[in-house]
Amino acid sequence: MAVMLELRRELCAYGRRAAELGLVIGTSGNLSARDGGLVAVTPSGVALDVLEPADCPIVSLDGHLVEGDRQPSSETPMHLAVYAATGAGAIVHTHSMFGTVVASTMTELPPIHYNAMLLGGTIRVADYATYGTPELAANVRIALEGRTAALMANHGGVTVGATLGDAFEATRLLEWLCELYVRSLTIGEPTILTDAQLADVVDRALNPPTFPRKE
Ligand code: 13P
Ligand code: ZN
Repeated sequence: MAVMLELRRELCAYGRRAAELGLVIGTSGNLSARDGGLVAVTPSGVALDVLEPADCPIVSLDGHLVEGDRQPSSETPMHLAVYAATGAGAIVHTHSMFGTVVASTMTELPPIHYNAMLLGGTIRVADYATYGTPELAANVRIALEGRTAALMANHGGVTVGATLGDAFEATRLLEWLCELYVRSLTIGEPTILTDAQLADVVDRALNPPTFPRKE
């Protein structure tokens, strides 16, 4: 269980960071990390900046409480659905301001910056469903197909990664892209990158030029 203790510590560290950066308010948001068939998840109804490792329950992928005195996050069905559908090692869900603005007004976040490709391109907004429900879990799973980020209509954002560090960075990038879009709208009509331009970005990333070494 040494791995699970380490994951619970990471949940506390990134939970604190999420609160510091204003990505969550009050007891909103939740994080989880997986090792094999076990998932460490933040508890329900506890602010993410006051968590201790022992506060974070461990659940099995099939949805049973394995360890911990507190109830797992109400969004645990969503976390488990995403783990079942992907090879993700960690998931971060926040109610960040610009992500929630976009999630409350649009059906997708168009790619106006090439860094959107780091999340898979156009970010989908999952159809609205009540928080914590299997319906929301299914909607998020669909919105995440081929992506490492999705928005949740009238709710917030969710990102996945191999590690909590990766999923957290994806959350920061998602928020940055949403802020960029919202701010761009205030001065004009943002230019959406074409499929060809986005394909060139992927090609460039896969085949970076190398500088010739000086003899
Ligand atoms: P929990 O406190 O149960 O994790 O709920 C917070 C949340 O963001 C629900 O969507
Ligand atoms: Zn939420």
